[in-house]
Amino acid sequence: MAQTIQAIRGMHDVLPDQTPLWQYAERILREVMSSYGYSEIRLPVVEKTELFKRSIGEVTDIVEKEMYTFEDRNGDSLTLRPEGTAGCLRACLEHGLLHNQVHRLWYYGPMYRHERPQKGRYRQFIQLGVETYGMSGPDIDAELIFIMDRLWKKLGIREKVCLQLNSLGTIDERLIYRQVLVEYFQANLSQLDEDSLRRLQTNPLRILDTKNPAMFHLVANAPALMDYLGAESLEHFKGLTTALDDLAVSYQINTRLVRGLDYYSKTVFEWVTDELGSQGTVCAGGRYDSLVEQLGGKPNSAVGFAMGIERLLALLEVSGNIPVTQAVNVFMIRVGESAEREGLRFAEKLRDAVTGLKLQVNCGGGSFKSQFKKADKIGADYAIILGDDEVSNGQLSLKSLRTSQEQQTLTQQEAITFLQNYISQVSLV
Ligand code: ATP
Ligand code: MG
Repeated sequence: MAQTIQAIRGMHDVLPDQTPLWQYAERILREVMSSYGYSEIRLPVVEKTELFKRSIGEVTDIVEKEMYTFEDRNGDSLTLRPEGTAGCLRACLEHGLLHNQVHRLWYYGPMYRHERPQKGRYRQFIQLGVETYGMSGPDIDAELIFIMDRLWKKLGIREKVCLQLNSLGTIDERLIYRQVLVEYFQANLSQLDEDSLRRLQTNPLRILDTKNPAMFHLVANAPALMDYLGAESLEHFKGLTTALDDLAVSYQINTRLVRGLDYYSKTVFEWVTDELGSQGTVCAGGRYDSLVEQLGGKPNSAVGFAMGIERLLALLEVSGNIPVTQAVNVFMIRVGESAEREGLRFAEKLRDAVTGLKLQVNCGGGSFKSQFKKADKIGADYAIILGDDEVSNGQLSLKSLRTSQEQQTLTQQEAITFLQNYISQVSLV
C-alpha cells in the first residue's frame, strides 16, 4: 500500500464535527459586523513580498522569521499573507477607494506564519480583520472596541476577556521615548536576553513585547511611553477612554503594550484572556495612520483590529458556550424498488415545503434494520419509513427516534404539515 500523505505541520483540517462551531461563530461575526454597517472585502491570500516588508517593518518577528516567501515561476518574490491589514490597504489604494471617502471594512480568512506550532499558535490560522479609513478622531477607535465588546457578549464570553489599552503617540514622540528607553536598557544590559540585545540596536520598543518571563520585571519597571506623549496624543487617548467610560466598557491601561508590528500610532489595544495559557491575546489592533502614506497613498487615517478565530473558539470551548447543532434531523429509510423511487421524489417535495429541514435520504440500500441504525447514529430526531406497502397506499410511516411516541402512518401532506410544525419548534430553541 502506498504511504499516506499528511498535512503540513501547523496547518489543520477542520473536521465535520468541528464545523458547526466554526459556522456558529462566523454567523455571529457577520451579524455583528453588519449591525455596525461594515462591508466585507475579499482579498488574495498571496501578495508581493515587498508589500509586507514595507508595511509590517523589516525588523519585526513576522518579516524577520515568520513569512512564507517563495519565488513564483517568473522569479517574482511572493508571500503568503501573514496578516490582512497591508493587503486590504493595498487593495483600497489600488482601486481608488480612499479619495475623500470613509470606509468600514471587514475580511475573514487564513493567514500564514512560520512559527513554532503549539496550542493557539499555528502556521495557518484564521483571522477576522476589521479596517476603517478616513476617520481621525477617537470615536472610531471606540467604535471598534464596542464591536468587540458586543461580540464577546453575544458569544457569552465577555467576562473571560479583558481589554488592554495604550497610546503609542506620534512618530516624533516615540523617537524621544526610544532614546529614554535605550538608556534604561543600557543601564541594565546584563539583564537583557539575546533577543533583546539585538532589539536594542534594531527596534528597542519591541523589547517591551518580550515573551520571556525572566525579562518581565525589567520591562515592568521601564519608563512608560504614556509619560512622553504630547497634548494631541493625550487628548485623543482621553477621547477614547471617555467614550469607553460612557458606555461602561471596562479596560486596563497597559503602558507596555506596543504590538508586534511597526505601523501603529496613537491607540493600540489587545483583548487578552488568562484561560488559554501563554497564547492569551485573542484580538489586537490599533491606529496606523502613517501606513497609508508609507504604501504610496495620500495622508489618511486608518484604524483596525484582527482577531484569531482559533483562539476565539478555544475560549468558547473552555467556557462551555457551545451551541448544540444537528447535522440531520430527519432520516429517510427506503426499502424496495418503488419505495426507493418514490422516496427520492418525496424527499425533494419535503425540501420544497419545509424550510430549514435537514433531511438525509438513505443511499446504497440495506435492510430496514441497518437503515434504522444509520438514522440513529446520525442523530436524527425522526425517521421517515418508506416500504413498497406504504407506497402502494400513498402513505409513509414516521417514527420518533428520541421519544417513545408511537410510530404513525401518514399521508405525504400530513407528514409535510407535521414536519413544518416540528421545524418551527426546533428553530425556536
Ligand atoms: P502573538 O503575540 O500571540 O504572537 P501577534 O501580535 O503576532 O500575536 P497579531 O499579528 O496582532 O498577533 O494578530 C492578531 C491575532 O491573530 C492575535 O491576537 C491572535 O489571536 C491571532 N494570531 C496571531 N498569530 C497567530 C498564530 N500563529 N496562530 C493562531 N493565531 C494567531
Ligand atoms: Mg506573533
